[in-house]
Amino acid sequence: MRRRLILGNWKMHKTVSEAEATVQDLLDRMKDYRGPYEWGIAPPFTAISALRTLREGTSMLLGAQNCHPEPQGAFTGEISVTMLQDLGVDFVIVGHSERRHIFGEDDAFIARKVRAVLDHGMTPVLCIGERLEEREQGHTEAVVKHQLLGSLAHVSPEEIPRVVLAYEPVWAIGTGKTATPETAQEVHAFIRTVLRDLGADAEEVTILYGGSVKPENVTNLTRMPDIDGALVGGASLQSQSFAHIINAAFPNA
Ligand code: PEP
Repeated sequence: MRRRLILGNWKMHKTVSEAEATVQDLLDRMKDYRGPYEWGIAPPFTAISALRTLREGTSMLLGAQNCHPEPQGAFTGEISVTMLQDLGVDFVIVGHSERRHIFGEDDAFIARKVRAVLDHGMTPVLCIGERLEEREQGHTEAVVKHQLLGSLAHVSPEEIPRVVLAYEPVWAIGTGKTATPETAQEVHAFIRTVLRDLGADAEEVTILYGGSVKPENVTNLTRMPDIDGALVGGASLQSQSFAHIINAAFPNA
């Protein structure tokens, strides 16, 4: 059975005290949750340690938004997988479109991160997704396939189910434009065919949707057979809306 996940990506938001206040409120709201979804937050690096203490004994997963693949070295400003493992991090977002398009990360670099996260016992949450012009030119499947093959280059077919995928069409991130459930489902189903072609047990791979997920649209998105949860940016910043999203996700497990 593949995992069902609702994960929040806080991006570059919240000081340590703001992060603590939000998570404390979120934990209060989620304490009686018995649904099928696992849930977690990827705060900025600066708040990971404080949230580790707060989430102790709870079901909240703790994530990081990025990593460097090397365990240590002369990489000013970077954070290694070893450091994240030391902080008790459960999952690491890799290949987010903001990393790809603002910071110029390519599939080869992302593939090294995926490998390093797996090697350190954490879950990579690998983001893939096309830009608006690529969709308009009919290149969505080619782009997604290319990103998948490149980013999974160092993962064996047997290990692929340890990677969580997040399909995030770039045109839907932070724009308020959500892909329709049917559009997202089509790409998720395509992703499973690519994984199958790679020799993986595609039915065991968790594939999240990301891009302007909100309490109002999460039910219909997660109702789709190949959408196993969501990666949520803006709407995860408020505890009320994030708790609402987790509770409204379709209980299809
Ligand atoms: C994201 O940052 O991964 C994301 C999906 O953002 P938003 O929900 O704000 O579109």
